[in-house]
Amino acid sequence: MKKKGLLIVVSGPSGTGKGTVCTKLLQETPELAYSISATTRAPREGEKDGVNYYFLTKEAFEKKIAAGGFLEHANVYGNYYGTPLDKVEESLAGGQDILLEIDIQGAMNVMAKCPQGIFIFLLPPSLKELEHRIRGRGSETPESLERRMNAAKDEIEIGKKYQYVVVNDTVDHAVEQIKDIWMAEHCRVAKNQELFEVLEHEERK
Ligand code: ADP
Ligand code: 5GP
Repeated sequence: MKKKGLLIVVSGPSGTGKGTVCTKLLQETPELAYSISATTRAPREGEKDGVNYYFLTKEAFEKKIAAGGFLEHANVYGNYYGTPLDKVEESLAGGQDILLEIDIQGAMNVMAKCPQGIFIFLLPPSLKELEHRIRGRGSETPESLERRMNAAKDEIEIGKKYQYVVVNDTVDHAVEQIKDIWMAEHCRVAKNQELFEVLEHEERK
């Protein structure tokens, strides 16, 4: 029987650096697939449909929800975001590991549906640094910065439900830690029963 792929979910508060860390991780590990999310938000400069996101209208997104086309979906700061179900199912069935970079509500929904997933919570080194990163991104109004910072404390509390925590102090360090977690998950006894079976059936000449 073919081994199933691993479902790896990276989430954390807005501005922690999920996008930055996952982009670097994917550049360094071409064997890891990425689940391209769908969203109703407008593309930012340089973003391409089908590469960064599938950019959908609100109507098209709601139609896909009704058709059961998402593994999870959430309303994140006023826009819909969702993980298309088909690519995740195909990857896992084909033995392909796949990465989801999603918000915390979405991750909690995936945790309920797919408890076999690997859930990694990305923390900022401090709240001060989180604020600095959100400001530095330059995409927020003072009100939306305030909203994100207020949400961050409650979101960080939810991180205690995850299996793994990684502090995004430097991008390189966070990427290395995620790779280590990924490798350790591949070495679990429960996921390698066939290695024992081969030895059990080996004949001594
Ligand atoms: P998220 O996807 O979690 O909302 P981003 O990846 O957009 O966060 O990162 C938010 C900002 O913080 C960006 O300007 C990014 O360049 C910066 N950033 C990300 N990781 C680090 C890091 N380890 N050190 C310093 N700045 C970082
Ligand atoms: P951005 O608009 O900055 O690209 O993303 C905003 C937030 O939406 C980020 O926290 C990102 O992780 C989250 N997000 C991106 N794709 C998905 C998704 O498919 N599902 C959910 N629940 N959140 C997502």
